[in-house]
Amino acid sequence: MGEGEGAFKAMIPLVYHSCYSPEFSQDHRFPMEKFGLLADFLKDRALLTSKNQFVPEPATEYEIIMAHCPDYVREFKNNRLSDKAMRRIGIPWSEGVMRRTFTAVGGTLMTSRLALKYGLAAHLAGGTHHAHEDFGSGFCIFNDLAVVSRILVAEGLAERVLIIDCDVHQGDGTASILAQDDSIFSCSFHCRENFPHRKAQSDFDIELTRGDGGEAYFKALETHLPYILSISQPDFILYDAGADVHQDDVLGYLNLTDGDMAQRDEYIIRLALDQGIPLACVIGGGYSRDRKALAARHGIVHQVAARLFAEYDF
Ligand SMILES: [Zn+2]
Repeated sequence: MGEGEGAFKAMIPLVYHSCYSPEFSQDHRFPMEKFGLLADFLKDRALLTSKNQFVPEPATEYEIIMAHCPDYVREFKNNRLSDKAMRRIGIPWSEGVMRRTFTAVGGTLMTSRLALKYGLAAHLAGGTHHAHEDFGSGFCIFNDLAVVSRILVAEGLAERVLIIDCDVHQGDGTASILAQDDSIFSCSFHCRENFPHRKAQSDFDIELTRGDGGEAYFKALETHLPYILSISQPDFILYDAGADVHQDDVLGYLNLTDGDMAQRDEYIIRLALDQGIPLACVIGGGYSRDRKALAARHGIVHQVAARLFAEYDF
């Protein structure tokens, strides 16, 4: 760490833009206000301050077409997608939604650049893993995981990227976009009975069963993740810390507690840091009518990451 960056020491870089929660229907199944509430939750605990908050720029069309069809990107930007395509996304178009969509991809990119510089960084959004090359699905429009890993490789910032997707839903968009991409390894820990019903094929899929709790989850992590690391040999990791594995999530069928989630996050982050591999966290999915409880659940990964960032003393 260079001179003049001392104030930053021991505080994890966090990436957030106030546009992440645009005006949106309160009754919608997608909890759009959770991003702002997550920022409030972390500010209340002095984990997000002016010292460690980084504000991203929107990703450019040029960046997004690293993983998407130019026509799809332009049609979404200009609100020209068909009604059918918008229904599949499940989020109505607005200027605010459009802006946050581009900015959240820029945010995952910024988080990754910060992780490369500091070893570990976390985003307060991201993980839109159901977005495919030329269509969106399941509340996901652009696939930040695929876009950003492609950019890191194209820019020579990483040779081999590993995406560890622990959202309760399979990362089907990521898997299909990156199917032929040898420099990016996608793995997905998800619940078999959850959306999407027709699964894609990641480089490594680990299926849990409806009702599985912490014990089954850790067994899966401990059995497979060290092996996945050894065969993928990554020099960069993108971690989707989906909160919809929680027992109170209204969409997810797994049964993890707050403590289980913290243990999952700690296990994965340590695995990377112990091997000196930079890791960027994104938040993934999480669904609840109780938006504050949901924001707190998403904040588990930031609390764990902040503690480990201080402990590893980058
Ligand atoms: Zn999900």
